Amino acid sequence: MKIVIMGAPGAGKGTQATKLTEILAVPHISTGDIFRYNIKNNTELGQKANEYIHQGQLVPDGLTEEIVKDRLLKSDCEKGFILDGFPRTIAQAKFLGNFLQNNQSKLDKALNILADDELIIRRISGRRVCKKCGAGYHIEHIPTLAENICDVCGDEVIQRDDDMPETVKKRLETYHRNTEPLVTYYSQQGLLVNVNGEQGIEGTTKQVLKVLGIDK
Ligand code: AMP
Repeated sequence: MKIVIMGAPGAGKGTQATKLTEILAVPHISTGDIFRYNIKNNTELGQKANEYIHQGQLVPDGLTEEIVKDRLLKSDCEKGFILDGFPRTIAQAKFLGNFLQNNQSKLDKALNILADDELIIRRISGRRVCKKCGAGYHIEHIPTLAENICDVCGDEVIQRDDDMPETVKKRLETYHRNTEPLVTYYSQQGLLVNVNGEQGIEGTTKQVLKVLGIDK
């Protein structure tokens, strides 16, 4: 299955993508994770992306499209993928459509996770991430077993720079301006499915599986 997951920052894209990738056994491709990995390792891509991300802005389309193309050309994507956080602009969506068409492929669904801005701001303020392996946590909903220590690798769990309140506000503005129009775009293509992301993680996953027609 080839799926894109859309939604505002903090709507639960990453959490649901992680669940889906286990169930469907296809790669989870998060452009945000790819950028963060490159920033941490101080690569040329990381240096270019860093300033945009820290200002709550989108990384330019060309740069983002290039990394997605490289990733989708890997053989593990042939049977499917979960694209988390891409596309985020109409230009990126068109790029993806053309890329898939040129490779005799197409998207199966565009999953949109809906959540209100106020809830998102509350949710993001509790979000934490492992400095080393990137595992995601939440101080209320998915706490670490030992305080601030990653359950997976034992390294320190921290707050992402771009999860700070001022940057979150900018990310939400960017979302409404650039990414929300994709809802209409994919609806017109008959690919859009919506789920309510304001319920708990398990409830949202149940709804996600239902709208995607996955029997689990
Ligand atoms: P995320 O983890 O998906 O919230 O992404 C974190 C940040 O990475 C975003 O706020 C953007 O600055 C950047 N980013 C991630 N995906 C994209 C994309 N498809 N296009 C442009 N910028 C992106």
